[in-house]
Amino acid sequence: MNLFNVYPLYDIEPVKAKGSYLWDKNGEEYLDLYGGHAVISIGHSHPHYVYKLTEQLSNIGFYSNSVKIPIQNELADKLGKLSGYEDYDLFLCNSGAEANENALKTASFFNGRKKVIAFSKAFHGRTAGAVAATDNKAIIAPVNYDEHVSFLPFNDIEALKANVTEETCAVIMEGIQGVGGINVASIEFLKAAREVCDKTGAILILDSVQCGYGRSGKFFSHDFAGIKPDLITTAKGMGNGFPIGGVLISPKFQAKFGMLGTTFGGNHLACAAAVAVLDVMKEENLVENAQKMGDYLFSNLKQIDGIKELRGRGLMVGIEFEQPVDKIRDTLLFDHHIFCGYAGKHTLRLLPSLAIGKAECDRFLEALNQVL
Ligand code: PLP
Repeated sequence: MNLFNVYPLYDIEPVKAKGSYLWDKNGEEYLDLYGGHAVISIGHSHPHYVYKLTEQLSNIGFYSNSVKIPIQNELADKLGKLSGYEDYDLFLCNSGAEANENALKTASFFNGRKKVIAFSKAFHGRTAGAVAATDNKAIIAPVNYDEHVSFLPFNDIEALKANVTEETCAVIMEGIQGVGGINVASIEFLKAAREVCDKTGAILILDSVQCGYGRSGKFFSHDFAGIKPDLITTAKGMGNGFPIGGVLISPKFQAKFGMLGTTFGGNHLACAAAVAVLDVMKEENLVENAQKMGDYLFSNLKQIDGIKELRGRGLMVGIEFEQPVDKIRDTLLFDHHIFCGYAGKHTLRLLPSLAIGKAECDRFLEALNQVL
């Protein structure tokens, strides 16, 4: 059987990874500044992470969502403490799209409304509801979802105020748009979103799947605005590569049996991975490191000629060029052995491990200088 061919692939086969580095089957070393679309939060193969997952292996067969699984409570407890959202509840699932799907469902159960406001250049994943709330969708979302979603210009406070009404079920937005080009939501825009949702009874959902979990230099990027969303979705960095997602649910929502559900969400291995991630983030001060290394990268990138615009926060970095980015990205990979991503035709996207150091930043800065 062949794999269904949905991604263009580089002819590189990584066989080993450690920290921010990968090695291919020929023993060639690569610097990973992309982390498989932002999933590598604490670095590859961290010893504590490997230990925690290995320790849990024997529990797989005991998994069922009708029995107590203490590691789920450990995860919720540690996540509450590190994120500052101790009064929120946690619903566990398996991916970012699934988290957004469950957040949209939770919102509509709460206020019984159907209309969703999303934003241009938004990306929320590939389940039906998440696709419907995604601008520039690559596939057609089911009509009954799609017809209820309106897209507004991102960071446009007037459009937000004019369009969120008492018929709006939810406003869903990223604190920093990832796939859409590393566009940072302004503090004023985030505050206006909170205000208009409070006024109309719409639910404010912050999709923090890519920009959350410490990447921005705060636990969630909307923390810069000091707002508390009603629902926060997370995935990617939460498991450092192990599939896990979650919805942080504010105390205004009342859980009911049968309201949300999943077979695999909250399984032992996923929780062990997520607990290990939080342990390491805390122990190694990785949120602070993301802020520090982000500042270092941004201030040095400003000195490089040939960059049109820099966008982002912390270790979510968008570097826009006049010229298409594919040649720059390929030269960085093939000549300098540095993995980067892209967001749109002209923007290079960096989503390194939060544990990255100055040496890795310097290697990239030097390589980019040479390439340009
Ligand atoms: N939301 C955002 C902001 C994302 O960037 C992504 C994935 O790139 C998703 C949701 C979907 O996550 P997943 O691919 O885990 O379903």
